[in-house]
Amino acid sequence: MFRARRTRYAATVKSVSRIAPRMARISLEGPGMSAFRCDEPTQWVKLFVTDPLDGQTVGRAYTVRHYSSAEPRIDIDVVLHGKGPAARWAEAAAPGQEVSFGGPRGAFRPEADAAFYLLAGDESAQPAVLTIAESLPPGMRGAVYLEVEGPQAETEVSGQADLDIIWVHRTTGRRKGEALRDAVLKAPLPREHVAAWAAGESGAVKDIRRHFTEGIGLDRRRAYAKGYWKLDEADHRDPLASD
Ligand SMILES: Cc1cc2nc3c(=O)[nH]c(=O)nc-3n(C[C@H](O)[C@H](O)[C@H](O)COP(=O)(O)OP(=O)(O)OC[C@H]3O[C@@H](n4cnc5c(N)ncnc54)[C@H](O)[C@@H]3O)c2cc1C
Repeated sequence: MFRARRTRYAATVKSVSRIAPRMARISLEGPGMSAFRCDEPTQWVKLFVTDPLDGQTVGRAYTVRHYSSAEPRIDIDVVLHGKGPAARWAEAAAPGQEVSFGGPRGAFRPEADAAFYLLAGDESAQPAVLTIAESLPPGMRGAVYLEVEGPQAETEVSGQADLDIIWVHRTTGRRKGEALRDAVLKAPLPREHVAAWAAGESGAVKDIRRHFTEGIGLDRRRAYAKGYWKLDEADHRDPLASD
């Protein structure tokens, strides 16, 4: 089947900062991005970077945490997990480096009759969860579950909706995603008008997805869940997610 070639945008690393001990914020700018637009929560790009270890170029998905049309500029927040080419690239990223990306894809749109949002993510999904939290309107209620290593990795959550923020700390020896899954499975929820969004390690997300649909009986349309990465698997694509 013919697939249209997606536009690739050329960009330069403008700045790199640590927003948490194992999370780098990388700002990308450049005239090659002038036709790029990205205005909706959770939108992501496929970023093409060169692994400093072997010089191979790989493409990996990253959420656009901030977009500014003026420069134009995007910020991506990258987990420095140390095991993959993109994480290694981010660890060594420096102003002036050139990259490219395609997209954006995957915009979140709130369910029309939702009154309560359950949001959940590990560090890889934290940028996406925060873009949703910032976009929910005043009057919307919700609970935001974010798994991080410990209190030192907590970041600011802002927005106009009435959201409870629950930081879930990983205890030593636990696999990423397990503590998040346990917390989400116990999350108290109102009886009606609930919608849910979750992403993170694929095994944990599988259990969370099942909980959304079979445990609390949410219609699939109101229960988004996507594996953003998978333990011991490079470049994981979740076969059960649509975008
Ligand atoms: C739509 C979408 C949006 C995403 N947004 C973001 C984002 O904003 N920020 C972000 O950091 N990630 C994000 N991710 C996840 C990111 O694409 C993956 O973590 C990706 O695998 C990283 O590539 P890599 O080259 O570092 O590792 P890979 O080559 O893919 O994997 C190598 C090894 O590293 C492990 N690994 C991969 N990711 C992690 C992790 N987070 N923690 C621990 N071990 C890991 C794998 O299990 C594997 O063993 C997103 C994924 C999707 C699908």
